[in-house]
Amino acid sequence: MAERKPLSKKIRFEVFKRDNFTCQYCGHKAPEYILEVDHIDPVKHKGDNDPFNLITSCFDCNRGKADRKLSDTAVLDKQRQKIEDLNIRRQQLEMLLAWKDELISNKNMEANYICNYISNKLESKFKPTESWRININSYLSKLGHDRLIEMIDDVFFKISFSMSKYGITEKTVEIFWSILRAKIIGETSTPQETKKYLHGILYNKFQYTAYRCDVETMIDRIINSPAFNENRTEIISAAKKITSVTDFLKKMNEFIAPINDRPSK
Ligand SMILES: [Zn+2]
Repeated sequence: MAERKPLSKKIRFEVFKRDNFTCQYCGHKAPEYILEVDHIDPVKHKGDNDPFNLITSCFDCNRGKADRKLSDTAVLDKQRQKIEDLNIRRQQLEMLLAWKDELISNKNMEANYICNYISNKLESKFKPTESWRININSYLSKLGHDRLIEMIDDVFFKISFSMSKYGITEKTVEIFWSILRAKIIGETSTPQETKKYLHGILYNKFQYTAYRCDVETMIDRIINSPAFNENRTEIISAAKKITSVTDFLKKMNEFIAPINDRPSK
């Protein structure tokens, strides 16, 4: 006994923690009971402070004053179970991390696929770059794959004429990205941002002071209408094309009108 190495504070703490600060023989818990660390196999006392041989015991159990309800194998089984549980948890954590890596690589694959799609549309004259990938990754998280492809097709449709007339140049690539960005802002901006944007368009076009009240009422109506979420991009592009304030009021009414015509429930 004299040769026994004293247990470090750290090991004792680890054993208590593992055993939930509960005597593994009788179930007494800290702080009501003073807990100690017991050596399960006394033969191993000689200097062996292997944590698997250590167990939380209350003062009485440790001195054999209380009946030890659990046999030593029961205690060992319990510990083995705990280690198995920890192993399972560790394996699950590893699986979770692997799954997360897989998701990230799926996302990168998706972005790569879309970048190649764009490159093909540019007749492979421009190869995907890191900044393309960064843009696409951020657009993907906002819109999802299908909607993004739709928008890319839209943009290429818009610039197809100038592409066939002037060829595919640096300028084409620049225009492609700037139109795509504008479309995505239109689709994902908040009502407040869209409101500001519509006011900006109208004011730049017509300095609408005379109709200010009508225009502002209409913008508020459109922003608050159910049509807004469904047709946000269409509303913005319609607003860009209008030729007069009256035209604007008429077009915006068309977006709201079908809703007003719905039969009331
Ligand atoms: Zn006890």
